[in-house]
Amino acid sequence: MSNFNNVLNKYDWDTILSDIQSKKAVDVEFALNNNKRTLEDFKALISPAAKPYIEQMAQISRRLTRKRFGNTMQMYVPMYLSNVCYNMCTYCGFSYGNKIERRTLTDDEILKEIRFLKSKGYDHLLLVTGEANAKVGVDYFENAIRLAKPYFSNISIEVQPLKQHEYEQLINVGLYAVLVYQETYNKNEYKKHHPQGRKSNFEFRLETPDRLGRAGIHKIGLGALYGLEDWRVDSFFTALHLKYLQKTYWRTRYSISFPRLRPFSGGIQPKLEMTDSDLVQLICAYRLLDEDVELSVSTRENQIIRDNITQFGITSMSAESKTNPGGYVVYPQSLEQFEVSDDRTLEEIAEKLKENGLEPVWKDWEYFK
Ligand code: SF4
Repeated sequence: MSNFNNVLNKYDWDTILSDIQSKKAVDVEFALNNNKRTLEDFKALISPAAKPYIEQMAQISRRLTRKRFGNTMQMYVPMYLSNVCYNMCTYCGFSYGNKIERRTLTDDEILKEIRFLKSKGYDHLLLVTGEANAKVGVDYFENAIRLAKPYFSNISIEVQPLKQHEYEQLINVGLYAVLVYQETYNKNEYKKHHPQGRKSNFEFRLETPDRLGRAGIHKIGLGALYGLEDWRVDSFFTALHLKYLQKTYWRTRYSISFPRLRPFSGGIQPKLEMTDSDLVQLICAYRLLDEDVELSVSTRENQIIRDNITQFGITSMSAESKTNPGGYVVYPQSLEQFEVSDDRTLEEIAEKLKENGLEPVWKDWEYFK
């Protein structure tokens, strides 16, 4: 059975790093002019040698994005269902060792949050949890999707990796997409940041998109958490993963996210910082590599960078997010998973998008069965 772990094992982290670092201006210019860009071109576009070409990359990226997606921006909102988690992740406020009040929303609480978000105009809901299989497992997710379905036409989840038959169970009741970020493709570093819990199983997480593809999910979201390792190498492996999945599960759509480490109480500092300019370069490089992939940004990023990057590559974004269970109406004071950087209201963000010539889109999909 096909799986990405076999592909990844053919590559060596340090060799990829050195390949990227050794790219020259001539490689970048070749990549810019190539009509069918390859992963070698992608390496050039994310390399230090591409820095002087960012403006040119941004112009091409903007043109390709508008051609494929029009002047639209898909809007979504995360809703945290539970912060109970038995994993230790060095970068997360919900990590098992952290002494915080743990909550899992009841049906009544879920409905209160759902009705509030619906009243704001959202139609795309992202359900988020920690990892606590016994209490917050596939049956809990099925129930939450059933509760949300009458209100939202597009429901995604960002939860612990599940088995193929569990994904099939959720797709059957209306699940549209699953976001599962590898955090880092560097196996040794991954182990350091996930010392305890089921998430410490690098391979099981890595093969999650394969299980999703086999289950027939509509969309898979990929990404790495920038700050854990070299952003260029992690981005190369994310792109490699994307290309493998597109070829293997060609009916599924894909999105890429670019989360950068955010502060939280007791959290770690980034090992290698990804600057704003690096982020811009990366977004453009992904668009130049792939005209169809959705590129998404959350409220982890501040309003200045979000207003900037939505103009030349990003196609979906969240707004007015809370990163704690019940954070909208039920328990607004509870501790967040990470600090939100863009705290503008939904209305302010929508207004800014329109000012920049973009139409916020609340609904682009309807589930029929
Ligand atoms: S990142 Fe996810 S799995 Fe890790 S501690 Fe936080 S909630 Fe748990």
